[in-house]
Amino acid sequence: MKTIVGVEVSVTKSLLIDSRTFCVLCRWMTFHARLSKFLLTVLIVFSCIVSGWGKDVKKLVLIAGKPSHPPLMHEFRAGCLLLEKCLQGVKGLKVEVHDNGWVEDESTFDDADAVVIYSDGGGKHPALQGDNLATLKRLVERGVGFGCMHYGVEVPPGEANEEFQAWIGGHYENMFSCNPIWEPKFDSFPKHPTTRGVAPFTIKDEWYFNMRFIGGIEGNQPHREKGLKFTPILVAKPSDSVRRGPYVHPKGPYDHIIASSGRDEAMLWVVERPDGGRGFGFTGGHFHVNWGNDSFRKIVLNTLSWVTGNSVPKNGIGSEVSEYDLQQNLDKKEPR
Ligand SMILES: [Zn+2]
Repeated sequence: MKTIVGVEVSVTKSLLIDSRTFCVLCRWMTFHARLSKFLLTVLIVFSCIVSGWGKDVKKLVLIAGKPSHPPLMHEFRAGCLLLEKCLQGVKGLKVEVHDNGWVEDESTFDDADAVVIYSDGGGKHPALQGDNLATLKRLVERGVGFGCMHYGVEVPPGEANEEFQAWIGGHYENMFSCNPIWEPKFDSFPKHPTTRGVAPFTIKDEWYFNMRFIGGIEGNQPHREKGLKFTPILVAKPSDSVRRGPYVHPKGPYDHIIASSGRDEAMLWVVERPDGGRGFGFTGGHFHVNWGNDSFRKIVLNTLSWVTGNSVPKNGIGSEVSEYDLQQNLDKKEPR
């Protein structure tokens, strides 16, 4: 029995010691919990920074026009999907491609930072169908960037001309602009984010020139007009033989194009609008295989990132495109 009491005393003593130890343990655990919480917070913040989540990620909506022209020409859908592939992994940018000339659900514009149209233009221009111009106007007024590529820079005389001049700095005008297939030499570029890492290049394309630019400017020099900052990016001098045609359609030649002999012409230009929104026009993009040219592709990729307000890496946006890639997603067309 004594032994039992002794045991009870010793148990009580050891319980007392354990209680003290328990308190120390509690304090240590509290400290440890706070430390863990702090470290977890640091880890989450660090992950957010690394992954780009939680910071300003820009959204580019790329709209591809309906199928058009013979195979490997005006491959708007394949071109947009290829550009999207090349832009995957670009920091601060996400890209959505929509085909057939517009988006199915316009709610996707709600968080868009730029809309770019690569399509046929003139009367078929996606911007001129239904209420699309009014939709674009609302977006531009919100500061959303806007860009047009190849035939997409053309709107008919008197339709959306002022809008295109204010939004992207100019537009193709039938019988004023021309569309010969030629091979300009782009051997120097202005210092601008869109030209980062772009090596001089020359490439045959249906390079339109002599746009109807804002304020009637020639478009081969930086310019400010009505608060719009205009910067020519791809500039080259067409030879007299190029000016004499034939152009793709109408064949020309036009006297005023010949009369501008020796003049530099802009085939990619960018604008910064007074509201802070950005815009651009790019007149190449007729031949799908041209996306296989690193410099041609890089200057467009840089521009697509820039037009959203996103930054462009120091050496531009690097990408690789194989022969296999160039054969993917082509529209189903009957060979002509
Ligand atoms: Zn074309």
